[in-house]
Formats: sequence, C-alpha cells, structure tokens
Amino acid sequence: MNSFINYGRQWIDDNDVDEVIKALKSDYLTQGPAVEVFEDTICEYTGAKHCVAVSNATAGLHLAVRALGIEKDSEGITSPNTFVASSNALIYNELKPVFADIDAATYNIDPFKIKEKISEKTKVIIPVHFAGRPCDMAAIRKLTEENKIHIIEDAAHAIGSVYENGKKVGSCVYSDMTVFSFHPVKTITTGEGGAVTTNDRDLYEKLKMLRSHGITRDASYLTSNPGPWYYEMHELGFNYRMTDIQAALGTAQMKKLESFKARRSYIIQRYNEAFSSLDHLQTPLADDGNSCFHLYVVKIDFKRLGKSRKSVMEALRSKKIGTQVHYIPVHTQPYYSKEYRYTYGDYPESEKYYESALSLPLYPSMTDADIERVISSIKELFV
Ligand SMILES: *Cc1c(COP(=O)(O)O)cnc(C)c1O
Repeated sequence: MNSFINYGRQWIDDNDVDEVIKALKSDYLTQGPAVEVFEDTICEYTGAKHCVAVSNATAGLHLAVRALGIEKDSEGITSPNTFVASSNALIYNELKPVFADIDAATYNIDPFKIKEKISEKTKVIIPVHFAGRPCDMAAIRKLTEENKIHIIEDAAHAIGSVYENGKKVGSCVYSDMTVFSFHPVKTITTGEGGAVTTNDRDLYEKLKMLRSHGITRDASYLTSNPGPWYYEMHELGFNYRMTDIQAALGTAQMKKLESFKARRSYIIQRYNEAFSSLDHLQTPLADDGNSCFHLYVVKIDFKRLGKSRKSVMEALRSKKIGTQVHYIPVHTQPYYSKEYRYTYGDYPESEKYYESALSLPLYPSMTDADIERVISSIKELFV
C-alpha cells in the first residue's frame, strides 16, 4: 500500500527522540539550558552574534517589529506572496501593512516595486525569502540606507540558504533581524518554534525581555535590588518562550540540516529533469546550489492544459499525493480588504503567479520511489 505523500513533512529519527527524552528527564521543561544550546547552535551556523528562540515565527515577527520601537501609524512593506503572519506582525504593532509586488521570475518581493512604495512613513521592510530563495538583499539594503528604514528578514522558508556573497541567511549582514520558523512543514522542526537572529546587542536584550513578559532580573537593568525574589517589568512583553523539550529537538535537527538541504536539492533536480519537457508547466528558476529550498512550486497554465487546478489537485489526491498553493496574495484576504481597502488587481504579478502556482511534495524523507510516483502521476495529467 502506498502511503500518503504530503507537500511537506518533518524528518524525525531515533537521535531526535533520544535528545527529547533527555530533555524530558532533565530539571527544566520550560526555557532552560537546552534553549541556550539551541540558540548558540543557530548563531554558530548562521554567523549571527545573537539568537533568541521563541514559541513560533509569528511570535518572532511580532517581537522583531516591536523591538524596533517604531511609532504607530508608520508603514511597513512586505510581499503579498507570503503567509499572512509576515504582514500581521506589522498590524500587531499598529503599523500599516503596505505591499510591494513580486518579481515574475523569482516570486520574491521586487526591489523596484519596493522603491515605488517607500514614503516618509515607511520604517521597516520585511522581505520574505520565498521557497528558500534569498531576496535581492543588496538592492533592498541600498534602498533602506538612503532612507533609514529597518529590515527584518522573514526567513521562515530559508534556514540553510546562502546569499550570493556566500554569507548564510540569518547572518543579518543585510538586516536588523532575521526570523526563522520551525513548524513541521519547514526545513527543520521543533514542533512549534521560531528564532530571531541579530548582530545588535540592544535589539537582542530587548527581544529577550519581550519574550518573557518584559521582565528582567538582570542587575544592570534594575532600578533597585532589594533581594533574590526581585524582578522588574520594563516593557509590555509576552510569553513567547520556547521550551527546553523543543530546543533539544531543534539542536538535534540542526545536525541534519546540510543533509536535508542536499536531499531537497536532489529531489528538485529529479523534478526539473522530469518536467522540463512538459507543455503548460513551468519549473522553478534554476539555482546555483545556494538555496535550501522549502517548497517546489511549478506554474501550470491550467487553461491551456484544459484542467482546473482543483481537478488536478483532486486527481493527485486520489493517488495519495498532497499538493498546496503558496500563497493566496495576502492583500486579497477579506480582513485586508475590510481594514485597508486592498483589492484584487492591486498587485498583478502576485495575482498572476497565484493563478498558476502549485507546490509539489518536497521533503528529505521522500524515498526514490516516492519521487518517481510524484513524477509519473504529474506526467499522466499532461498527456
Ligand atoms: C510558516 C511561516 C510563518 C509563520 O511561522 P510559524 O512558526 O508557524 O508561526 C511566517 N512567515 C512565513 C513566510 C511562513 O511560511
């Protein structure tokens, strides 16, 4: 019996299980030494000076925007081709979400379109490294330097990816902060989980404080220090902590990141070879081996193919193959229309892309037989 092949899934092996059991038997269950080990591991891997592990990437984005202390009613710019969490982080902080359309080739936010949207109110840009392919950060950085605009990278898809300059995503060489997600469909997992990296000591201290109720016990911050019970609340923070159980899993997963990346890239190579001859299907832009891809998105001309996306997805599902669409352009979501009057037609590249996009299964534990099953099932639909 063939098992179901989803568009993405986690890899958990005996070593992961052993490490989690060790954490369960330790003194800490909530944030403790395992969280620090995980944070150090991410720093070492990415080259960032500081890392703050959090309960998920949505929380990380919320805190990252908050840590910048931007005055309300300012604007932040992000991609319409993303999960709603990227732009919701702006709204949580009472900033107006502004979108800049995507580049038709990379599906990433287009620096030229960002430039058109920059106003005096623009205080932060949140580029999203879609599918794991890094945005043109050099161009984005150039735009912000002239205008004193902050950058927070949404790297939920992109742990393991490398910029053209050879630095790792997460090193923050172009940005104030970078946010990762460790949701099970992403490249490594902690169950729920996320992390924010930064090279800025002040932002690091602020993120740590905001992660845990805005409370500090650090003597250098206290206004008085009457005894060992004492703490002070300096910010309106949250409980966005990661547990030691999750962090133990995260550290074990990081050891496998390079092998995950290699397997993902092998699967993509097989897909590209197999699909290059199909009419009405466009494979993703080639990569020089720098990106650790989270998604494999093909664009299908459903009209010319004579089949709807729904029927294609259903046909694949009947063969136990799961597909997904990344993403419904955020500006077309009812909440965004209601609150900000965005409408269909505002960002034509992201809308055109959305009409044809389909994410096929991509995860390292796919067997060679799984890969061939996906390939033959897709090919059958194109005859
Ligand atoms: C998954 C995802 C998030 C949110 O991550 P969580 O850890 O689930 O909160 C944010 N941005 C993008 C682009 C994502 O894909």
